[in-house]
This record gives sequence, C-alpha cells and structure tokens, in this order.
Amino acid sequence: MITKNRALFKLKVSDLFPLKDRLFHLIFPEKCTACSAELSTSDRHLCPFCLLDLDYTYFEKYTEATAVEKLFWGRVPIEQAYAHLFYRKGGSTQQILHALKYTYNGQIGRAFGKSIGQSLRQQQKWMDVDVLVPVPIHPKKEFTRGYNQSALIAEGISESMGIPVQSLGLQKSTHTASQTRKGRFLRWENVQNNFSLSSQSDFTGKHIVFVDDVITTGATLESLIRTVLDKYPDIRISVISLAFAA
Ligand SMILES: [Zn+2]
Repeated sequence: MITKNRALFKLKVSDLFPLKDRLFHLIFPEKCTACSAELSTSDRHLCPFCLLDLDYTYFEKYTEATAVEKLFWGRVPIEQAYAHLFYRKGGSTQQILHALKYTYNGQIGRAFGKSIGQSLRQQQKWMDVDVLVPVPIHPKKEFTRGYNQSALIAEGISESMGIPVQSLGLQKSTHTASQTRKGRFLRWENVQNNFSLSSQSDFTGKHIVFVDDVITTGATLESLIRTVLDKYPDIRISVISLAFAA
C-alpha cells in the first residue's frame, strides 16, 4: 500500500493528462460496445474478451478468390470484394453491428473503418480506387437514426487510405420491411426495384467501392450494382464490408 502511494507521488507532469482521463473515466466509465462490461482506461470500445472473440477473415492475405467475391460470381461483375470480419450469431461482431445500427456509435464505425484501411492500404489491387461510396439506407431510416452506419465505416477507411468518400445520389424508393425472416428469393424480389438514381453524381470512368456494414445474401448490393451499371456502364465496381455472414 505504501509503495503504491509513493508511486503516485512520482507522477510526472506528462502523466497528469492520463490521470485526468482516468478521473473522467471514474465518473463516466466507458462500456464495451459488445458486452457492456466496464472498460479499463487502457481499452477503447471493446473489452479484451470481446476483442479476442472477433473473427477476422484475413481475406487481404488471399491470392485466390475469397468467399465474399465468389458470392457475386454469375450475378454482377465486380473487380474485387473484401470483408473484415466473419459474422457469427451471438458473437461480438453481431453485437458490434447492432450497436452501430441502433445506438449512435460513430466512433466504433470509424475505428473499424480505420482497421479495414490498415489491412488494405498496402495491397496493390486496392490502390487504383477512386472513390468510396457508402451503401445508402432509406432516407426515413437515416433521418430517424441520424446517420448511415456504412458512411461511418467509409469515413474510417478514407482516413487511413486517403480515398475520398462520396454519397451516391441514390435512394431506396420504398420502405423495406425487416428482411431477416425471409428466404433468399423473397429478399431479392423485395429489393430489386427499390433503388432510384438521382442525377447529381457522376462516376463515369471511375473505380468505385461500395462500403457496407454486413453482407449476407448479397442481394441488396447486387441490386445496387445493377442500377449503377445501368447508368454508368463503363465504371468498375468493388465492395468492402465490415462483416460477412459466411
Ligand atoms: Zn466486451
């Protein structure tokens, strides 16, 4: 106990700021985004247990086609696709995606976006990308939620890769009901006519990357890519998602 107290008096001026942070933490403790456990001052967003539970795909190390790329085969032409984490029901990734969508948590969206950027920025094949385009959500949803979660991820990627973010002048034209209980066919019918493009954006001749929070069947992205290719037949399209339900 005595040694501990002595150690306190040995604090240097430069240590005062962390101490201030620690005091702030005592009053407003940050909680783990995934499990709500109280975080220690050295942790950010996730506790060590949830951090260990994250299932990284390591797709950036693949030389052959990845599972998320194969998902689009025979459906729409894409240059390449990347997903950062595998989505497992009940895992940390599910909790993170939920927090990203339903509790305003811009910080964690940007933090994971940065992490994606760090994985991809050394990769030759991602170097000629011109613009990051967040997958749009219904304007009504964006209004009530206050943000588009995919835009937050795109901002983080942009920060670490230096690629600009541009919103697509594209809107979902109808309010889709929850798709989770529907099968693949129903879901496809549900989304295929739901997008309309506005004329503000010009992506002629560019390599654009759609940024999404989670890819399950790929139906939403397929619909989006078809719509965009109708308008800009000469563009190249790639996809980045935070999570992938394999
Ligand atoms: Zn946790």
